[in-house]
Amino acid sequence: MTRPASSDDPLREAPLFQQTTLGGSVRVSGAGIHTGAQAQVTIHPADPHTGILFHAGGASFPASAACVVSARRCTSLGTDGVRVDTVEHLLSALRGLRVDNARIEVEGPELPILDGSALPWVEAIQSVGIAPQQAQGRPLHLTRTVALREGDSWLVATPSDRFTLTCVTHFDHPLLGTQADTFEDDPAHYAAGIAPARTFGFFAEVQALLEAGLARGGTLENALIIYEDRFSLPLRVPDECLRHKALDLWGDLSLAGSRLCAAVTAIRPGHRANVAFAALLCREAQSAHEE
Ligand SMILES: [Zn+2]
Repeated sequence: MTRPASSDDPLREAPLFQQTTLGGSVRVSGAGIHTGAQAQVTIHPADPHTGILFHAGGASFPASAACVVSARRCTSLGTDGVRVDTVEHLLSALRGLRVDNARIEVEGPELPILDGSALPWVEAIQSVGIAPQQAQGRPLHLTRTVALREGDSWLVATPSDRFTLTCVTHFDHPLLGTQADTFEDDPAHYAAGIAPARTFGFFAEVQALLEAGLARGGTLENALIIYEDRFSLPLRVPDECLRHKALDLWGDLSLAGSRLCAAVTAIRPGHRANVAFAALLCREAQSAHEE
């Protein structure tokens, strides 16, 4: 039986959208948080249907779940022995501002951490503007609920005519505890409410990483350190850690491909679960399209 389509039917195909790219090229430089290495990143406009395409070390690869080479502590993309680490904050900014097409040239092994948030990326993109293109895009839509559990992380996406993200975090720490909120897919809201949330780490964890020779680019300026009874810096918003988890998800879920139209609930999200979920959503959307 065919369901009759109506304007409030979430199972109807999501409407097409007008694709966008950047109004010009913009360059950003800085050190990576994990490697400490300097990198130069140039984000260029790209033709319709390009998607987000990375160029690094003589290789080109799309920002897609199929090109994830690691999701340990950050999201890394690559191909043929070339990899670029910590792509999630730039991808988050692009998706948050609804930039569909861009070519990203990277000189260096890891994207700069900047201030630990996506705000400097947002400001870089806004400095050249976002240009609508003469092409329509097809959003990723679901026809049924999909769910994934990976360790302590749970992710669920239900069919919807727009993207919303409900994020729940729980840390066994008196300053954090359980936090939850629902975020709408709106560029102005993303830029003001999600992009400024910074990377964070617990003092004991950060100390262990430093002793293991990791987090070599981590400083008190680019990550919020959480001590037993205080934060290393004043919080930008009371639920900044929850919002940073949402920021990471915005980036990681963009690896599913086009703009996602689904109501996503993420409980204790993390990069590994996020990218596995992006791959699952991509497969699910493809099979729905083929039916
Ligand atoms: Zn992050």
